[in-house]
Amino acid sequence: MPSLNRKEVPLWKGVSDGEWNDWKWQVANRIVTVDQLRQVIDIDDDEADAIGRSLGKLRMAITPYYASLMDPVDPRCPIRMQAVPTEKETRLGKADLLDPLHEDVDSPVPGLTHRYPDRGLFLITDQCSMYCRHCTRRRHAGETDKAYGDEQIKKGIEYVRRTPTFRDVLLSGGDPLTVDDDRLEWVISELRAIPHVDFVRLGTRMPVVCPQRITDKLCSMLRKYHPVWLNTQFNHPKEITKESAEACARLADAGVPLGNQSVLLKGINDCPYLMRELSQGLLKIRVNPYYIYQCDLSEGIEHFRTSVGKGIQIIEYLRGHTTGMAQPLFIVDAPGGGGKIPVGPNYVVSQSDRKVILRNYEGVLTVYTEPDDNQSHPEDLYHWEEYTARQRHLSREGLIKLFEGDLLSLEPAHLDRRERSKKGR
Ligand code: SF4
Repeated sequence: MPSLNRKEVPLWKGVSDGEWNDWKWQVANRIVTVDQLRQVIDIDDDEADAIGRSLGKLRMAITPYYASLMDPVDPRCPIRMQAVPTEKETRLGKADLLDPLHEDVDSPVPGLTHRYPDRGLFLITDQCSMYCRHCTRRRHAGETDKAYGDEQIKKGIEYVRRTPTFRDVLLSGGDPLTVDDDRLEWVISELRAIPHVDFVRLGTRMPVVCPQRITDKLCSMLRKYHPVWLNTQFNHPKEITKESAEACARLADAGVPLGNQSVLLKGINDCPYLMRELSQGLLKIRVNPYYIYQCDLSEGIEHFRTSVGKGIQIIEYLRGHTTGMAQPLFIVDAPGGGGKIPVGPNYVVSQSDRKVILRNYEGVLTVYTEPDDNQSHPEDLYHWEEYTARQRHLSREGLIKLFEGDLLSLEPAHLDRRERSKKGR
């Protein structure tokens, strides 16, 4: 695969190693114009016009580091496809939605989505070091290219403080690691000082698109607030470089557990063998391949969407064929705010009250025989009341109410037959 020698690229002539390795230099010198981009990769006039037209939808900004990974001549390069706008982004698909996951709808205060019972998504900036062309949050990403102000952040922290069911907060954006160390420490320290917040998570692409951001200073700061978890987004094996591997090693050495959330993208990574290589590569750099996301219904990204079946096929090619550690969950994030739904191949083929028929990755059918006494008696477990009382207090939403007999059925808000009986009365 051809790659660039950054010292030969006109745009970066004379840039010292010290500057190149400084994340602030990387962010300040992002590629934001077609003229700059033309000094790095070949672009014809049609492509240049298309970039101009699509910028109204989501701004372009590419760190010099990430741009240096581009194939200068091949437009199919996965780095280039994730970073360089195309005319396709100006097209609206039939199913496209501005806020497909209802993140704004489910926000009790601006920037804080409270969807699941015990956790929330906290956006602290709309800035990213690189604006991914497939971004699901493109309605906000890059809006101001700045961090959110103190007042909004304080409201989010206050909401978490007065919501005792919260156990963890996911800091995101934009990219939360575009915020400088002092401000980030302020937010994390405020959250960790709340007694019911057990840990903080960071959702960031910095290890992939600007690994220079993962400094020893940042790692020392994060160490003070453990447990701090971090999820990043490697989408292609080409993104696993010496620099990104070193950034992940610094975080892992600082005790930060690392997970990866790939997005399944047509023309970039929609191949089961490529995804197997990515999963195996991530394990080598101590990153858990945690999720593969089905691409969301956000506006202007239909050209990146694959079938759901492609994701199921990818899981089929992983399970059994490589270590269980390399198995991500394939997730469809439900449009309308229903949350993450894991989808995969079916392994339970049939079932009676005595036998379960299962199939393995080879297609072998096998039978698991249930024990003679197949009833569990959790109330007999060691200190059962204590564990149950604590967890029941945190969450008993959804199907749990059916399991525990509080409800006979879960019904949509407007069920036609209920409406009919209301009218009749
Ligand atoms: S880093 Fe995340 S929020 Fe920023 S553009 Fe990429 S996907 Fe969107």
